[in-house]
Amino acid sequence: MNSTLVDFRQSTATGELDRAFQGFVPPGKKKNLEGRVALVTGGSRGIGKAIALKLAEEGADVVINYQYTKDYAEQVSGLIDQIAMRDDFGKLSGMIDNMENGDQAREVSRLIDSMGKHSMACQASVDDIEQVSRMRDEILKQFGRIDILVNNAGIVRDKSFAKMTSDMWREVLSVNLDGAFNCTKSVIDGMMERGFGRIVNMSSVIGRMGNRGQANYAASKAGLIGLTQSLAKEFAGKGITVNAVAPGFIETDMLKSVPKEIMDKIIAQIPLGRLGKPSEVAEAVVYLVSRSGDYITGQVIDINGGLYI
Ligand code: NAP
Repeated sequence: MNSTLVDFRQSTATGELDRAFQGFVPPGKKKNLEGRVALVTGGSRGIGKAIALKLAEEGADVVINYQYTKDYAEQVSGLIDQIAMRDDFGKLSGMIDNMENGDQAREVSRLIDSMGKHSMACQASVDDIEQVSRMRDEILKQFGRIDILVNNAGIVRDKSFAKMTSDMWREVLSVNLDGAFNCTKSVIDGMMERGFGRIVNMSSVIGRMGNRGQANYAASKAGLIGLTQSLAKEFAGKGITVNAVAPGFIETDMLKSVPKEIMDKIIAQIPLGRLGKPSEVAEAVVYLVSRSGDYITGQVIDINGGLYI
């Protein structure tokens, strides 16, 4: 069985699975988020992808929401199924070691049947409440509930305020802020019924300190902080925590449009002297939604290399 596992890992072309397995918890040890179902909006790329993989690594079943990039979302979902299968294969090999020959085939077949799916990709534009409700219904059909919601999907439409159109304003507020409202609204009743929920909103250092050319984005990200604090107070008695993370400049597609000379100036202002990595944001999110974060609610965790102190 061990050789199957080795071959299985080598068969991944990108090496992403290998990286995803860093910190892998051996079979038999109960993982932090085992039995939890998570929805990560905008989980197909960048920070959302890192969060989805980290949640899966900690044992959660994870739904990858996306707007356009179906292929990317399905790739992340496939990686998560493989992470879970690896654990299941571990359980399988442990049981086979203790089995009588005659029982093996029947038992192996039963275990394989029980592995099931651990992830799925789900299209919905978070700014559209009907699409979000449809997504919620699909998740409930497949996984039965949603315990963890990470409102990560976000966009930028940068322009100086003088040149910013009302469409650019509306679009950013609709995805970044209304999106979190829509997704939270869709899952909150279920969380209240079960008396458990973990919600993390993706703010930004820009929501803390503002930025030229980003009035729309800064307003949306500051709005998420107000939403987080208010919901934390409203749902604290229901077993639901609501927190935000506020990353600084993180290496993702979102920064690709920033010219090199501007990026160099930004990096020069970061005390730790570099951009952040998506995995560094993911670590904080997993902390907040796991048992380690049970007594934390209404907080904003800054992950910015000291850019905003
Ligand atoms: P990214 O690489 O551009 O990825 C954005 C993700 O959001 C993609 O999965 C995208 O889906 C999804 N998305 C966009 N609009 C959507 C919509 N209407 N409905 C559903 N999904 C939608 O961005 P990122 O850098 O990882 O940023 C993720 C979050 O972190 C954002 O909220 C961003 O504001 C925040 N953040 C980023 C940085 C940074 O420096 N990168 C810093 C602070 C905060 P598709 O793939 O289908 O387009």
